[in-house]
Amino acid sequence: MYDDVFLVRFWGVRGSISVSGPEFSRYGGNTICIEMRCGKHTLLFDAGSGLRPAGGALQALAVTDFDLLFTHCHYDHIIGLPSFAPIYDRSVKVTLWSGHLAGHMTTRQMVDEFMRPPWFPVKLGICKASLDYRDFVSGDVLRPREGVVVRTGSLIHPGGCIGYRVEWGGRVVAVITDTEHEPDKLDQAVLGLIEDADLVIYDCTYTEEEMERRRGYGHSTWQQGVKLCEAAGARGLALFHHDPTRTDAELDEIEKLAKDKFTGAFAARDGQTLKFPVSLRKKR
Ligand SMILES: [Zn+2]
Ligand SMILES: [Zn+2]
Repeated sequence: MYDDVFLVRFWGVRGSISVSGPEFSRYGGNTICIEMRCGKHTLLFDAGSGLRPAGGALQALAVTDFDLLFTHCHYDHIIGLPSFAPIYDRSVKVTLWSGHLAGHMTTRQMVDEFMRPPWFPVKLGICKASLDYRDFVSGDVLRPREGVVVRTGSLIHPGGCIGYRVEWGGRVVAVITDTEHEPDKLDQAVLGLIEDADLVIYDCTYTEEEMERRRGYGHSTWQQGVKLCEAAGARGLALFHHDPTRTDAELDEIEKLAKDKFTGAFAARDGQTLKFPVSLRKKR
């Protein structure tokens, strides 16, 4: 464990549905799951199919007390939950957070609805882990662990979605997925969440050329990610939530184009790890 490092690990970078095959082997096919380690604290963002290998890694490290925050509960962000081994372990405590359904459904109801027959053989009650459910409203500032500040905001996505800004150790990492931008406009809520960030993990499902046919789907482009990062003074941009048809060769090409425009850009891959040493610079 690194007590003086903000670690980010991508366990699932694929949007919409998981994929497999040789043409996807380098960037990976698991759907959305990100691990952040703020010193000794572990936070997971979303429970796509990447949550299953994340669970194995947490067990190997004997991490038994951590947080799982949902951006929203579309299948690509929740499908891995029933296959997440730690929830069947009685020595584990998980705190689950969501805010995208505020006023309509609690985090507990969301998970209960999802994990039950006939869609899954057993009910959530079979889980041995201690599950602690937290509900919040977009705009709330969460303090899940000592020294960890998580700011929240609403993204533009059918059914709602929450963007997160995680601050710890003088470092900032933002998760901005899934979201749709308006043409020629910078989303002020997104700018607020990514201001001066060390890393912005951004929904780059489409390219601007594809976007015209995909209006209303609730996704964005790498070109918009670059514009937002430039405007917000952010340093790193992880192209994320790759379209399920996007091959490794296509992602290589997109990564190259994005890097030419913004040196901190890269296409995120399953299993990729980034480490940000604790900084003495003060972030807001
Ligand atoms: Zn998605
Ligand atoms: Zn979605």
